[in-house]
Amino acid sequence: LMQLFRPLDMLGMVYRTIRQGLTDMAEMFALMDSPVEVQDAPGAPALVVRRPTLAFDNVVFGYEPDRTILKGLSFEVPAGSQVAIVGPSGAGKSTIARLVFRFYDPWSGRILIDGQDIREVTQVSLRSAIGIVPQDSVLFNDTIGYNIAYGRDGAGLAEVEQAARDAALMGLIERLPQGFDTEVGERGLKLSGGEKQRVAIARTLVKNPPILLLDEATSALDTRTEQEILATLHRVSSGRTSLSIAHRLSTIADADTIFVLNEGALAESGTHAELLRRDGLYAEMWARQATEIDAAAAAAEAAE
Ligand code: ATP
Repeated sequence: LMQLFRPLDMLGMVYRTIRQGLTDMAEMFALMDSPVEVQDAPGAPALVVRRPTLAFDNVVFGYEPDRTILKGLSFEVPAGSQVAIVGPSGAGKSTIARLVFRFYDPWSGRILIDGQDIREVTQVSLRSAIGIVPQDSVLFNDTIGYNIAYGRDGAGLAEVEQAARDAALMGLIERLPQGFDTEVGERGLKLSGGEKQRVAIARTLVKNPPILLLDEATSALDTRTEQEILATLHRVSSGRTSLSIAHRLSTIADADTIFVLNEGALAESGTHAELLRRDGLYAEMWARQATEIDAAAAAAEAAE
């Protein structure tokens, strides 16, 4: 009988491995369009992260040969710092995240993590060092506990609970009759956008990566939920290196450094206050956004 079970066991393992791959892929949907096969270099070693620094060194990249998107981009993210990338729509912000995760390779230039060229290490080791919190998180039709434990193979209950606590999910879980065993997703409990994002945060905490890539939500979270999520992200980012891809400015004003990307190159960088004083592209974007927010508030008031 055991002989009958062994292949089934194997099948279970293969299934879990494939599912793991699938969520990582699904999670990346927000970031990628049609990834090109990148190959591990022959005999590539694993990435070893002692100090999680991230650097772009003169990176040139485009999706199509006749259209360059990043035109010699260089910047450095010191270990443990919280950095944001902003810029007009289409400037190449999400492209940066796709390159860090190595869905594509640059045409020229290098991307370095802790001094190692990401082309020269295995993709598995690279991706295990990076946690992604995408704007639209994908959940399985499975229990909430399973969805969190997914961050890392072999995660135990204590870890899952701690992650749920850190992602401010415990309030929700304690209200559910079956707690962590509650089925969520299409066929179970429907979670709100903010709750799904918290599950993604908890999953990332279980993974415990030294580097975080946050693809900021552009989607429909109300202001209060957004503030709460931001506060959570802020807390979980501390002690890690984090790169936020910000499509709006209001959420990143307290970043250690803001890089302003324009037409595939670095236009400006500095803190929010420094960039406002500079009175350049960032100040202009900020003023425009403030006007838009005022106009929206006025319209909402008029509608009442
Ligand atoms: P937004 O703030 O609007 O999300 P972004 O700064 O993140 O914009 P990217 O998504 O990085 O911009 O896109 C940069 C440019 O690359 C855009 O002009 C986009 O049309 C183009 N682009 C993105 N993905 C692909 C792709 N798979 N194939 C071809 N062009 C692409």
